[in-house]
Amino acid sequence: MASVTTEIPDTKPELDALIIGAGFSGLYQLFCLRERLGLSVQVLEAGDGVGGTWYWNRYPGARCDSQSHAYCYSFSKELTQEWEWSERYPEQPEIMRYLNFVADRLDLKRNIRFNTRVVAANYDEAANRWIVRTEAGEQLTAKFLITAVGCLSTANVPKIPGLESFAGQWYHTGQWPHEGVDFTGKRVGMIGTGSTGIQAAPVIAQTAAHLDVFQRTANYSVPARNAPLTPEFKRYIKENATEFRAVMHATRNGMPFTISERLALETPPDERENLYEAAWQKGGLEFRATFEDLMVDKAANDTAADFIRRKIRAIVKDPVTAEKLSDIDHPYATKRPPIDTNYFETFNRDNVTLVDVKAAPIECITPGGVRTSGGDYPLDIIVFATGFDAMTGPMLRMNITGRDGITVAEAWEAGPRTYLGLQIAGFPNLFTMTGPGSPSVLCNMPVPIEQHAEWITDCIAHMRAHGLERVEATEAAVTNWVEQVNTAADATLLPLAKSSWYLGANVPGKPRVFMPYAGGMARYREICADVAANNYQGFVLSA
Ligand code: NAP
Repeated sequence: MASVTTEIPDTKPELDALIIGAGFSGLYQLFCLRERLGLSVQVLEAGDGVGGTWYWNRYPGARCDSQSHAYCYSFSKELTQEWEWSERYPEQPEIMRYLNFVADRLDLKRNIRFNTRVVAANYDEAANRWIVRTEAGEQLTAKFLITAVGCLSTANVPKIPGLESFAGQWYHTGQWPHEGVDFTGKRVGMIGTGSTGIQAAPVIAQTAAHLDVFQRTANYSVPARNAPLTPEFKRYIKENATEFRAVMHATRNGMPFTISERLALETPPDERENLYEAAWQKGGLEFRATFEDLMVDKAANDTAADFIRRKIRAIVKDPVTAEKLSDIDHPYATKRPPIDTNYFETFNRDNVTLVDVKAAPIECITPGGVRTSGGDYPLDIIVFATGFDAMTGPMLRMNITGRDGITVAEAWEAGPRTYLGLQIAGFPNLFTMTGPGSPSVLCNMPVPIEQHAEWITDCIAHMRAHGLERVEATEAAVTNWVEQVNTAADATLLPLAKSSWYLGANVPGKPRVFMPYAGGMARYREICADVAANNYQGFVLSA
Protein backbone atom coordinates (compact mmCIF):
# COMPACT_ATOMS: atom_id res chain seq x y z
CA MET A 1 0.00 0.00 0.00
CA ALA A 2 1.23 3.47 -0.79
CA SER A 3 1.68 5.74 2.21
CA VAL A 4 -0.37 8.91 2.62
CA THR A 5 1.58 11.90 1.40
CA THR A 6 1.23 15.26 3.09
CA GLU A 7 1.78 17.16 -0.13
CA ILE A 8 -1.55 18.17 -1.61
CA PRO A 9 -1.56 18.65 -5.40
CA ASP A 10 -3.83 21.20 -7.02
CA THR A 11 -7.48 20.82 -6.18
CA LYS A 12 -9.48 19.36 -9.07
CA PRO A 13 -12.55 21.13 -10.47
CA GLU A 14 -15.40 20.98 -8.03
CA LEU A 15 -17.93 18.16 -8.39
CA ASP A 16 -21.61 18.13 -7.63
CA ALA A 17 -21.29 14.72 -6.03
CA LEU A 18 -18.56 12.33 -5.07
CA ILE A 19 -19.41 8.68 -4.50
CA ILE A 20 -17.09 6.30 -2.66
CA GLY A 21 -17.32 2.71 -3.91
CA ALA A 22 -18.17 1.07 -7.25
CA GLY A 23 -20.24 -1.88 -6.11
CA PHE A 24 -23.97 -2.35 -6.66
CA SER A 25 -24.79 0.86 -4.78
CA GLY A 26 -22.12 3.18 -6.17
CA LEU A 27 -22.89 2.18 -9.76
CA TYR A 28 -26.59 2.82 -9.49
CA GLN A 29 -26.11 6.05 -7.55
CA LEU A 30 -23.76 7.30 -10.27
CA PHE A 31 -26.31 6.43 -12.94
CA CYS A 32 -29.16 8.19 -11.09
CA LEU A 33 -27.27 11.40 -10.38
CA ARG A 34 -25.63 11.65 -13.80
CA GLU A 35 -28.49 10.54 -16.05
CA ARG A 36 -31.54 11.73 -14.13
CA LEU A 37 -30.21 14.97 -12.64
CA GLY A 38 -27.32 15.76 -14.98
CA LEU A 39 -24.87 16.26 -12.11
CA SER A 40 -21.09 16.14 -12.37
CA VAL A 41 -20.23 12.96 -10.46
CA GLN A 42 -17.04 11.10 -9.72
CA VAL A 43 -16.80 7.64 -8.18
CA LEU A 44 -13.64 6.69 -6.31
CA GLU A 45 -13.00 2.97 -5.96
CA ALA A 46 -10.14 1.25 -4.10
CA GLY A 47 -10.19 -1.87 -6.31
CA ASP A 48 -9.07 -1.99 -9.92
CA GLY A 49 -12.53 -2.91 -11.15
CA VAL A 50 -16.21 -2.61 -10.31
CA GLY A 51 -17.85 -5.10 -7.94
CA GLY A 52 -17.41 -3.78 -4.41
CA THR A 53 -17.88 -6.57 -1.89
CA TRP A 54 -17.86 -9.10 -4.73
CA TYR A 55 -14.60 -7.73 -6.06
CA TRP A 56 -12.85 -8.68 -2.81
CA ASN A 57 -14.74 -11.85 -1.84
CA ARG A 58 -13.30 -14.33 -4.33
CA TYR A 59 -12.91 -17.22 -1.92
CA PRO A 60 -13.59 -20.81 -3.05
CA GLY A 61 -17.32 -21.42 -3.31
CA ALA A 62 -18.25 -17.70 -3.20
CA ARG A 63 -21.79 -17.49 -4.47
CA CYS A 64 -24.74 -15.30 -3.62
CA ASP A 65 -27.41 -16.72 -1.32
CA SER A 66 -30.12 -14.70 -3.05
CA GLN A 67 -31.45 -16.23 -6.23
CA SER A 68 -29.92 -14.76 -9.34
CA HIS A 69 -33.10 -13.31 -10.79
CA ALA A 70 -33.49 -11.30 -7.57
CA TYR A 71 -29.84 -10.44 -7.06
CA CYS A 72 -29.67 -7.80 -9.74
CA TYR A 73 -30.96 -4.35 -10.58
CA SER A 74 -34.66 -4.18 -11.32
CA PHE A 75 -34.94 -0.48 -12.27
CA SER A 76 -34.22 -1.04 -15.97
CA LYS A 77 -36.29 -3.24 -18.26
CA GLU A 78 -33.42 -3.24 -20.78
CA LEU A 79 -30.90 -4.61 -18.28
CA THR A 80 -33.34 -7.26 -17.10
CA GLN A 81 -34.12 -8.37 -20.64
CA GLU A 82 -30.56 -8.30 -21.96
CA TRP A 83 -28.82 -10.14 -19.15
CA GLU A 84 -29.14 -13.89 -18.67
CA TRP A 85 -28.17 -15.73 -15.47
CA SER A 86 -26.90 -19.27 -15.78
CA GLU A 87 -27.60 -20.77 -12.35
CA ARG A 88 -30.16 -20.54 -9.55
CA TYR A 89 -27.58 -18.70 -7.39
CA PRO A 90 -24.95 -16.56 -9.12
CA GLU A 91 -21.33 -17.46 -8.50
CA GLN A 92 -18.87 -14.64 -7.71
CA PRO A 93 -17.36 -14.54 -11.26
CA GLU A 94 -20.84 -14.34 -12.79
CA ILE A 95 -21.78 -11.43 -10.50
CA MET A 96 -18.58 -9.69 -11.59
CA ARG A 97 -19.51 -10.27 -15.24
CA TYR A 98 -22.98 -8.89 -14.54
CA LEU A 99 -21.73 -5.71 -12.85
CA ASN A 100 -19.24 -5.13 -15.67
CA PHE A 101 -22.05 -5.64 -18.17
CA VAL A 102 -24.13 -3.00 -16.34
CA ALA A 103 -21.22 -0.58 -16.04
CA ASP A 104 -20.42 -0.92 -19.76
CA ARG A 105 -24.03 -0.88 -20.93
CA LEU A 106 -24.70 2.33 -18.97
CA ASP A 107 -21.29 3.77 -19.81
CA LEU A 108 -20.46 4.24 -16.14
CA LYS A 109 -16.73 3.54 -16.09
CA ARG A 110 -15.80 6.93 -17.52
CA ASN A 111 -16.81 8.47 -14.18
CA ILE A 112 -15.08 5.88 -11.99
CA ARG A 113 -11.51 6.17 -10.82
CA PHE A 114 -10.14 2.78 -9.84
CA ASN A 115 -7.18 2.05 -7.53
CA THR A 116 -8.15 5.14 -5.57
CA ARG A 117 -8.65 4.68 -1.86
CA VAL A 118 -10.20 7.46 0.19
CA VAL A 119 -8.28 8.13 3.40
CA ALA A 120 -10.03 11.27 4.67
CA ALA A 121 -13.09 13.43 4.07
CA ASN A 122 -13.62 16.78 5.76
CA TYR A 123 -16.65 19.03 5.67
CA ASP A 124 -15.78 22.68 5.07
CA GLU A 125 -18.66 24.50 6.69
CA ALA A 126 -17.91 27.97 5.29
CA ALA A 127 -17.88 26.65 1.73
CA ASN A 128 -20.49 23.95 2.35
CA ARG A 129 -18.26 21.47 0.54
CA TRP A 130 -16.72 18.07 1.23
CA ILE A 131 -12.98 17.82 0.72
CA VAL A 132 -11.95 14.26 0.08
CA ARG A 133 -8.38 13.04 0.18
CA THR A 134 -7.09 9.89 -1.48
CA GLU A 135 -4.25 7.63 -0.45
CA ALA A 136 -2.10 9.14 -3.21
CA GLY A 137 -2.57 12.57 -1.61
CA GLU A 138 -4.96 13.92 -4.20
CA GLN A 139 -7.78 16.21 -3.09
CA LEU A 140 -11.28 16.41 -4.57
CA THR A 141 -14.10 18.77 -3.64
CA ALA A 142 -17.81 18.08 -3.93
CA LYS A 143 -21.07 19.46 -2.66
CA PHE A 144 -22.49 16.04 -1.85
CA LEU A 145 -20.55 13.07 -0.54
CA ILE A 146 -22.14 9.64 -0.81
CA THR A 147 -20.60 6.59 0.81
CA ALA A 148 -21.41 3.42 -1.13
CA VAL A 149 -18.84 1.35 0.71
CA GLY A 150 -20.87 -1.76 1.46
CA CYS A 151 -21.71 -3.31 4.81
CA LEU A 152 -19.34 -6.27 4.70
CA SER A 153 -16.13 -4.88 3.31
CA THR A 154 -13.79 -4.48 6.28
CA ALA A 155 -12.17 -7.85 6.91
CA ASN A 156 -12.01 -9.01 10.52
CA VAL A 157 -8.82 -10.98 11.14
CA PRO A 158 -8.86 -11.99 14.81
CA LYS A 159 -5.79 -11.00 16.80
CA ILE A 160 -4.60 -14.50 17.57
CA PRO A 161 -1.12 -14.40 19.11
CA GLY A 162 1.63 -15.78 16.89
CA LEU A 163 -0.02 -15.20 13.49
CA GLU A 164 3.05 -13.29 12.31
CA SER A 165 5.21 -16.32 13.12
CA PHE A 166 3.20 -18.72 10.92
CA ALA A 167 5.51 -20.32 8.36
CA GLY A 168 2.75 -21.18 5.90
CA GLN A 169 0.31 -18.95 4.00
CA TRP A 170 -2.80 -17.35 5.48
CA TYR A 171 -5.71 -15.60 3.81
CA HIS A 172 -8.92 -13.84 4.82
CA THR A 173 -11.86 -14.81 2.60
CA GLY A 174 -12.78 -11.14 2.12
CA GLN A 175 -9.32 -10.27 0.75
CA TRP A 176 -8.80 -13.30 -1.42
CA PRO A 177 -5.88 -13.27 -3.89
CA HIS A 178 -7.03 -12.68 -7.45
CA GLU A 179 -4.80 -15.46 -8.74
CA GLY A 180 -6.55 -17.96 -6.42
CA VAL A 181 -5.03 -20.38 -3.93
CA ASP A 182 -3.97 -23.93 -4.76
CA PHE A 183 -4.87 -26.25 -1.90
CA THR A 184 -3.69 -29.41 -3.68
CA GLY A 185 -1.90 -31.67 -1.24
CA LYS A 186 -1.94 -29.03 1.51
CA ARG A 187 -2.99 -29.29 5.14
CA VAL A 188 -5.56 -26.50 5.46
CA GLY A 189 -7.15 -25.02 8.56
CA MET A 190 -10.28 -22.91 8.16
CA ILE A 191 -11.40 -20.76 11.10
CA GLY A 192 -15.05 -19.73 11.08
CA THR A 193 -18.36 -21.37 10.24
CA GLY A 194 -20.57 -18.47 9.17
CA SER A 195 -22.10 -18.17 5.68
CA THR A 196 -18.63 -17.86 4.16
CA GLY A 197 -16.98 -20.82 5.89
CA ILE A 198 -20.02 -22.95 5.14
CA GLN A 199 -19.66 -22.16 1.43
CA ALA A 200 -15.89 -22.54 1.35
CA ALA A 201 -15.31 -25.77 3.32
CA PRO A 202 -16.86 -28.21 0.79
CA VAL A 203 -14.83 -26.68 -2.06
CA ILE A 204 -11.52 -26.55 -0.18
CA ALA A 205 -12.00 -30.17 0.96
CA GLN A 206 -12.10 -31.33 -2.66
CA THR A 207 -8.41 -30.61 -3.26
CA ALA A 208 -6.77 -30.22 0.16
CA ALA A 209 -4.85 -33.15 1.62
CA HIS A 210 -6.64 -32.43 4.86
CA LEU A 211 -9.05 -29.75 6.08
CA ASP A 212 -9.49 -28.87 9.76
CA VAL A 213 -12.62 -26.78 10.31
CA PHE A 214 -12.24 -24.77 13.52
CA GLN A 215 -15.76 -24.23 14.83
CA ARG A 216 -16.44 -21.90 17.76
CA THR A 217 -20.20 -21.56 17.35
CA ALA A 218 -22.20 -24.22 15.52
CA ASN A 219 -24.54 -22.89 12.85
CA TYR A 220 -27.73 -23.85 11.09
CA SER A 221 -27.65 -24.30 7.34
CA VAL A 222 -30.22 -25.31 4.77
CA PRO A 223 -29.31 -26.81 1.37
CA ALA A 224 -29.09 -24.19 -1.39
CA ARG A 225 -30.00 -26.72 -4.11
CA ASN A 226 -28.16 -24.77 -6.74
CA ALA A 227 -28.75 -25.87 -10.33
CA PRO A 228 -28.47 -24.51 -13.86
CA LEU A 229 -31.50 -22.46 -14.86
CA THR A 230 -33.69 -24.11 -17.46
CA PRO A 231 -34.62 -22.20 -20.64
CA GLU A 232 -38.25 -22.21 -19.40
CA PHE A 233 -37.31 -20.55 -16.11
CA LYS A 234 -35.10 -18.00 -17.88
CA ARG A 235 -38.05 -17.09 -20.07
CA TYR A 236 -40.41 -17.04 -17.08
CA ILE A 237 -38.28 -14.55 -15.10
CA LYS A 238 -38.00 -12.21 -18.07
CA GLU A 239 -41.71 -12.36 -18.77
CA ASN A 240 -42.58 -11.78 -15.11
CA ALA A 241 -39.89 -9.27 -14.17
CA THR A 242 -42.44 -6.61 -13.25
CA GLU A 243 -44.30 -8.98 -10.95
CA PHE A 244 -41.07 -10.13 -9.26
CA ARG A 245 -40.14 -6.51 -8.65
CA ALA A 246 -43.51 -5.84 -7.06
CA VAL A 247 -43.09 -8.84 -4.73
CA MET A 248 -39.55 -7.81 -3.77
CA HIS A 249 -40.82 -4.34 -2.94
CA ALA A 250 -43.65 -5.68 -0.81
CA THR A 251 -41.82 -8.23 1.34
CA ARG A 252 -39.92 -7.81 4.60
CA ASN A 253 -36.58 -8.91 3.18
CA GLY A 254 -36.74 -7.72 -0.41
CA MET A 255 -36.91 -11.34 -1.51
CA PRO A 256 -38.82 -12.64 -4.53
CA PHE A 257 -41.01 -14.88 -2.37
CA THR A 258 -43.63 -14.11 0.27
CA ILE A 259 -43.60 -15.28 3.88
CA SER A 260 -46.37 -17.74 4.62
CA GLU A 261 -49.19 -16.46 6.81
CA ARG A 262 -49.39 -19.83 8.59
CA LEU A 263 -48.25 -20.03 12.20
CA ALA A 264 -45.91 -22.90 13.14
CA LEU A 265 -47.54 -23.41 16.52
CA GLU A 266 -51.04 -23.57 15.08
CA THR A 267 -50.08 -26.14 12.48
CA PRO A 268 -50.50 -29.81 13.46
CA PRO A 269 -47.04 -31.43 14.01
CA ASP A 270 -47.32 -33.86 11.05
CA GLU A 271 -48.32 -31.12 8.66
CA ARG A 272 -45.62 -28.82 10.03
CA GLU A 273 -43.02 -31.51 9.51
CA ASN A 274 -44.19 -31.96 5.91
CA LEU A 275 -43.96 -28.25 5.26
CA TYR A 276 -40.42 -28.09 6.66
CA GLU A 277 -39.46 -31.13 4.60
CA ALA A 278 -40.84 -29.51 1.44
CA ALA A 279 -38.94 -26.30 2.22
CA TRP A 280 -35.75 -28.30 2.91
CA GLN A 281 -36.11 -30.08 -0.43
CA LYS A 282 -36.77 -26.83 -2.25
CA GLY A 283 -33.77 -25.28 -0.50
CA GLY A 284 -32.55 -21.73 -0.01
CA LEU A 285 -33.38 -18.81 2.23
CA GLU A 286 -37.07 -19.42 1.58
CA PHE A 287 -36.92 -21.99 4.39
CA ARG A 288 -37.24 -19.00 6.73
CA ALA A 289 -40.57 -18.12 5.11
CA THR A 290 -42.22 -21.44 5.97
CA PHE A 291 -44.16 -19.89 8.87
CA GLU A 292 -44.93 -16.33 9.83
CA ASP A 293 -44.05 -16.68 13.51
CA LEU A 294 -40.51 -18.09 13.16
CA MET A 295 -38.78 -14.78 13.84
CA VAL A 296 -41.05 -13.52 16.60
CA ASP A 297 -41.98 -16.53 18.72
CA LYS A 298 -39.25 -18.61 20.33
CA ALA A 299 -41.45 -21.71 20.64
CA ALA A 300 -42.28 -21.49 16.93
CA ASN A 301 -38.63 -21.00 16.09
CA ASP A 302 -37.75 -24.07 18.18
CA THR A 303 -39.73 -26.23 15.77
CA ALA A 304 -37.57 -25.08 12.84
CA ALA A 305 -34.37 -25.34 14.88
CA ASP A 306 -35.27 -28.86 15.96
CA PHE A 307 -36.01 -29.89 12.36
CA ILE A 308 -32.62 -28.65 11.13
CA ARG A 309 -30.74 -30.25 14.06
CA ARG A 310 -32.34 -33.59 13.19
CA LYS A 311 -31.30 -33.16 9.57
CA ILE A 312 -27.69 -32.48 10.62
CA ARG A 313 -27.65 -35.64 12.77
CA ALA A 314 -29.09 -37.65 9.89
CA ILE A 315 -26.50 -36.40 7.40
CA VAL A 316 -23.33 -36.56 9.50
CA LYS A 317 -22.24 -40.15 10.08
CA ASP A 318 -19.88 -39.71 13.04
CA PRO A 319 -22.17 -39.15 16.06
CA VAL A 320 -19.63 -37.03 17.99
CA THR A 321 -19.14 -34.70 15.01
CA ALA A 322 -22.90 -34.60 14.39
CA GLU A 323 -23.48 -33.63 18.01
CA LYS A 324 -20.96 -30.78 17.82
CA LEU A 325 -22.40 -29.50 14.54
CA SER A 326 -25.95 -29.53 15.85
CA ASP A 327 -25.22 -28.08 19.30
CA ILE A 328 -26.38 -24.60 18.23
CA ASP A 329 -26.75 -21.88 20.87
CA HIS A 330 -29.09 -19.40 19.15
CA PRO A 331 -32.55 -19.56 17.56
CA TYR A 332 -32.71 -20.31 13.83
CA ALA A 333 -32.05 -17.28 11.57
CA THR A 334 -31.22 -14.93 14.44
CA LYS A 335 -27.78 -14.90 12.88
CA ARG A 336 -27.81 -14.48 9.11
CA PRO A 337 -28.91 -17.99 8.02
CA PRO A 338 -26.40 -19.69 5.73
CA ILE A 339 -27.36 -21.95 2.87
CA ASP A 340 -24.96 -24.56 1.57
CA THR A 341 -23.92 -27.09 -1.00
CA ASN A 342 -22.85 -30.25 0.84
CA TYR A 343 -21.57 -28.53 3.99
CA PHE A 344 -22.64 -31.13 6.53
CA GLU A 345 -21.87 -33.94 4.03
CA THR A 346 -18.28 -32.65 3.90
CA PHE A 347 -17.70 -33.94 7.44
CA ASN A 348 -18.24 -37.49 6.15
CA ARG A 349 -15.03 -37.20 4.09
CA ASP A 350 -11.90 -38.89 5.39
CA ASN A 351 -9.86 -35.73 4.85
CA VAL A 352 -12.05 -33.39 6.95
CA THR A 353 -12.03 -32.92 10.73
CA LEU A 354 -14.25 -30.68 12.85
CA VAL A 355 -12.24 -29.03 15.63
CA ASP A 356 -14.40 -27.75 18.48
CA VAL A 357 -12.69 -24.56 19.61
CA LYS A 358 -15.44 -23.71 22.03
CA ALA A 359 -14.50 -26.77 24.10
CA ALA A 360 -10.75 -26.33 23.51
CA PRO A 361 -10.10 -22.70 22.48
CA ILE A 362 -7.42 -21.54 20.08
CA GLU A 363 -4.45 -20.42 22.20
CA CYS A 364 -2.08 -19.23 19.52
CA ILE A 365 -0.69 -19.75 16.07
CA THR A 366 2.74 -21.35 15.92
CA PRO A 367 5.12 -21.52 12.95
CA GLY A 368 3.66 -24.96 12.25
CA GLY A 369 -0.07 -24.37 12.62
CA VAL A 370 -2.82 -23.72 15.16
CA ARG A 371 -2.47 -24.56 18.84
CA THR A 372 -5.63 -25.11 20.86
CA SER A 373 -5.88 -26.04 24.51
CA GLY A 374 -6.62 -29.55 23.21
CA GLY A 375 -3.47 -29.88 21.07
CA ASP A 376 -1.59 -28.79 17.95
CA TYR A 377 -2.96 -28.83 14.39
CA PRO A 378 -0.12 -28.79 11.82
CA LEU A 379 -1.07 -26.65 8.80
CA ASP A 380 0.32 -25.31 5.52
CA ILE A 381 -2.50 -22.81 4.93
CA ILE A 382 -4.86 -21.00 7.29
CA VAL A 383 -8.12 -19.58 5.91
CA PHE A 384 -9.80 -16.95 8.04
CA ALA A 385 -13.53 -17.11 7.31
CA THR A 386 -13.95 -14.85 10.30
CA GLY A 387 -16.23 -12.21 8.88
CA PHE A 388 -16.18 -8.44 8.91
CA ASP A 389 -16.25 -5.34 11.04
CA ALA A 390 -19.72 -5.04 9.59
CA MET A 391 -21.67 -1.90 8.73
CA THR A 392 -19.66 0.62 10.76
CA GLY A 393 -16.14 -0.63 9.88
CA PRO A 394 -16.12 0.63 6.26
CA MET A 395 -17.30 4.09 7.42
CA LEU A 396 -14.94 4.42 10.35
CA ARG A 397 -11.79 3.61 8.44
CA MET A 398 -12.25 6.58 6.09
CA ASN A 399 -11.63 9.31 8.73
CA ILE A 400 -14.72 11.37 7.99
CA THR A 401 -14.94 14.69 9.83
CA GLY A 402 -18.14 16.72 9.83
CA ARG A 403 -19.20 20.06 11.25
CA ASP A 404 -17.23 21.48 14.20
CA GLY A 405 -14.47 18.94 13.71
CA ILE A 406 -16.53 15.98 14.93
CA THR A 407 -15.55 12.62 13.46
CA VAL A 408 -17.84 9.70 12.65
CA ALA A 409 -15.89 7.70 15.25
CA GLU A 410 -16.84 10.28 17.89
CA ALA A 411 -20.46 10.52 16.74
CA TRP A 412 -20.71 6.72 16.89
CA GLU A 413 -18.72 6.14 20.05
CA ALA A 414 -21.62 4.32 21.70
CA GLY A 415 -22.73 2.64 18.47
CA PRO A 416 -23.94 3.91 15.10
CA ARG A 417 -26.44 6.78 15.23
CA THR A 418 -28.14 7.70 11.98
CA TYR A 419 -31.43 9.00 10.70
CA LEU A 420 -32.95 6.28 8.49
CA GLY A 421 -29.45 4.88 7.93
CA LEU A 422 -29.09 7.72 5.42
CA GLN A 423 -27.52 10.57 7.34
CA ILE A 424 -25.60 11.38 10.51
CA ALA A 425 -26.34 14.56 12.48
CA GLY A 426 -23.39 16.93 12.16
CA PHE A 427 -22.46 15.70 8.67
CA PRO A 428 -24.37 17.90 6.19
CA ASN A 429 -24.71 16.68 2.60
CA LEU A 430 -23.22 13.29 3.49
CA PHE A 431 -25.41 10.32 2.56
CA THR A 432 -24.58 6.82 3.80
CA MET A 433 -26.03 4.25 1.39
CA THR A 434 -27.30 1.12 3.18
CA GLY A 435 -25.88 2.55 6.39
CA PRO A 436 -26.54 1.22 9.90
CA GLY A 437 -30.13 1.91 10.85
CA SER A 438 -31.42 0.88 7.42
CA PRO A 439 -32.70 -2.62 6.53
CA SER A 440 -29.68 -3.35 4.27
CA VAL A 441 -28.11 -6.65 5.38
CA LEU A 442 -31.43 -8.11 6.49
CA CYS A 443 -32.51 -7.94 2.85
CA ASN A 444 -31.70 -9.08 -0.62
CA MET A 445 -29.24 -6.20 -1.05
CA PRO A 446 -30.09 -4.82 -4.52
CA VAL A 447 -33.57 -3.89 -3.24
CA PRO A 448 -32.46 -1.58 -0.38
CA ILE A 449 -29.66 -0.28 -2.61
CA GLU A 450 -32.04 0.84 -5.35
CA GLN A 451 -34.36 2.39 -2.77
CA HIS A 452 -31.53 4.40 -1.19
CA ALA A 453 -30.10 5.56 -4.53
CA GLU A 454 -33.53 6.74 -5.66
CA TRP A 455 -34.35 8.42 -2.34
CA ILE A 456 -31.03 10.31 -2.31
CA THR A 457 -31.54 11.32 -5.95
CA ASP A 458 -35.05 12.61 -5.20
CA CYS A 459 -33.75 14.52 -2.18
CA ILE A 460 -31.04 16.24 -4.22
CA ALA A 461 -33.55 16.96 -7.02
CA HIS A 462 -35.88 18.54 -4.45
CA MET A 463 -33.05 20.70 -3.13
CA ARG A 464 -32.12 21.89 -6.61
CA ALA A 465 -35.73 22.65 -7.44
CA HIS A 466 -36.04 24.80 -4.31
CA GLY A 467 -32.65 26.48 -4.40
CA LEU A 468 -31.46 24.59 -1.31
CA GLU A 469 -27.79 23.85 -0.73
CA ARG A 470 -27.57 21.91 2.50
CA VAL A 471 -29.33 18.93 4.04
CA GLU A 472 -28.62 17.63 7.50
CA ALA A 473 -30.46 15.24 9.81
CA THR A 474 -31.36 16.76 13.16
CA GLU A 475 -30.05 15.26 16.39
CA ALA A 476 -33.65 14.76 17.57
CA ALA A 477 -34.54 12.78 14.44
CA VAL A 478 -31.45 10.62 14.92
CA THR A 479 -32.28 9.93 18.57
CA ASN A 480 -35.84 9.03 17.66
CA TRP A 481 -34.73 6.77 14.80
CA VAL A 482 -32.16 4.94 16.94
CA GLU A 483 -35.01 4.17 19.36
CA GLN A 484 -37.15 2.89 16.49
CA VAL A 485 -34.31 0.66 15.29
CA ASN A 486 -33.99 -0.81 18.79
CA THR A 487 -37.75 -1.27 19.13
CA ALA A 488 -37.95 -3.01 15.75
CA ALA A 489 -35.15 -5.44 16.71
CA ASP A 490 -36.68 -6.11 20.13
CA ALA A 491 -39.95 -7.10 18.47
CA THR A 492 -38.11 -10.04 16.90
CA LEU A 493 -35.90 -12.85 18.16
CA LEU A 494 -32.85 -11.34 16.44
CA PRO A 495 -31.21 -9.92 19.60
CA LEU A 496 -31.15 -13.45 21.11
CA ALA A 497 -28.06 -14.30 19.02
CA LYS A 498 -25.59 -12.75 21.43
CA SER A 499 -22.48 -13.31 19.32
CA SER A 500 -23.98 -12.00 16.09
CA TRP A 501 -22.28 -9.46 13.86
CA TYR A 502 -25.68 -7.72 13.56
CA LEU A 503 -24.96 -6.65 17.17
CA GLY A 504 -21.30 -5.87 16.57
CA ALA A 505 -20.46 -8.73 18.93
CA ASN A 506 -17.86 -10.31 16.62
CA VAL A 507 -15.37 -7.45 16.98
CA PRO A 508 -13.73 -7.00 20.40
CA GLY A 509 -14.51 -3.59 21.90
CA LYS A 510 -17.25 -2.74 19.38
CA PRO A 511 -20.40 -1.32 21.06
CA ARG A 512 -23.21 -3.88 21.29
CA VAL A 513 -25.97 -2.24 19.28
CA PHE A 514 -28.34 -3.97 16.89
CA MET A 515 -27.33 -2.16 13.69
CA PRO A 516 -29.78 -2.90 10.84
CA TYR A 517 -33.43 -1.81 10.89
CA ALA A 518 -35.50 -4.95 11.47
CA GLY A 519 -38.94 -3.47 10.85
CA GLY A 520 -38.96 -4.79 7.28
CA MET A 521 -38.03 -3.32 3.91
CA ALA A 522 -41.62 -2.56 2.88
CA ARG A 523 -42.33 -0.63 6.08
CA TYR A 524 -39.00 1.19 5.81
CA ARG A 525 -39.74 2.23 2.23
CA GLU A 526 -43.04 3.74 3.41
CA ILE A 527 -41.33 5.62 6.24
CA CYS A 528 -38.74 7.11 3.87
CA ALA A 529 -41.45 8.10 1.39
CA ASP A 530 -43.47 9.76 4.17
CA VAL A 531 -40.42 11.67 5.38
CA ALA A 532 -39.86 13.03 1.87
CA ALA A 533 -43.55 13.83 1.38
CA ASN A 534 -43.54 15.74 4.69
CA ASN A 535 -40.97 18.18 3.40
CA TYR A 536 -38.08 15.99 4.53
CA GLN A 537 -39.20 15.85 8.12
CA GLY A 538 -36.27 15.33 10.48
CA PHE A 539 -33.82 16.98 8.10
CA VAL A 540 -32.93 20.65 8.02
CA LEU A 541 -32.72 21.90 4.45
CA SER A 542 -31.23 25.32 3.95
CA ALA A 543 -30.10 27.67 1.24
P1 NAP B 1 -19.54 -14.34 10.13
O1 NAP B 1 -20.93 -14.69 9.87
O2 NAP B 1 -19.23 -13.21 11.03
O3 NAP B 1 -18.84 -15.66 10.68
C1 NAP B 1 -17.54 -15.61 11.18
C2 NAP B 1 -17.18 -16.95 11.76
O4 NAP B 1 -15.85 -16.86 12.26
C3 NAP B 1 -18.06 -17.36 12.92
O5 NAP B 1 -18.25 -18.74 12.88
C4 NAP B 1 -17.22 -16.95 14.12
O6 NAP B 1 -17.50 -17.68 15.29
C5 NAP B 1 -15.84 -17.30 13.61
N1 NAP B 1 -14.79 -16.61 14.31
C6 NAP B 1 -14.53 -15.28 14.33
N2 NAP B 1 -13.45 -15.03 15.09
C7 NAP B 1 -13.03 -16.22 15.58
C8 NAP B 1 -11.98 -16.61 16.44
N3 NAP B 1 -11.15 -15.71 16.98
N4 NAP B 1 -11.84 -17.91 16.73
C9 NAP B 1 -12.70 -18.82 16.22
N5 NAP B 1 -13.71 -18.52 15.40
C10 NAP B 1 -13.88 -17.23 15.08
O7 NAP B 1 -18.74 -14.04 8.76
P2 NAP B 1 -19.01 -14.60 7.29
O8 NAP B 1 -19.23 -16.06 7.33
O9 NAP B 1 -17.93 -14.06 6.44
O10 NAP B 1 -20.36 -13.95 6.90
C11 NAP B 1 -20.61 -12.57 7.10
C12 NAP B 1 -21.82 -12.17 6.31
O11 NAP B 1 -21.47 -12.01 4.95
C13 NAP B 1 -22.93 -13.18 6.28
O12 NAP B 1 -23.66 -13.22 7.46
C14 NAP B 1 -23.71 -12.72 5.09
O13 NAP B 1 -24.53 -11.63 5.37
C15 NAP B 1 -22.60 -12.30 4.16
N6 NAP B 1 -22.29 -13.41 3.24
C16 NAP B 1 -23.12 -13.56 2.19
C17 NAP B 1 -22.89 -14.59 1.34
C18 NAP B 1 -23.78 -14.76 0.20
O14 NAP B 1 -24.83 -14.24 0.04
N7 NAP B 1 -23.33 -15.54 -0.68
C19 NAP B 1 -21.84 -15.46 1.52
C20 NAP B 1 -21.01 -15.26 2.58
C21 NAP B 1 -21.24 -14.22 3.46
P3 NAP B 1 -18.56 -17.11 16.37
O15 NAP B 1 -19.89 -17.29 15.75
O16 NAP B 1 -18.32 -17.93 17.56
O17 NAP B 1 -18.22 -15.66 16.59
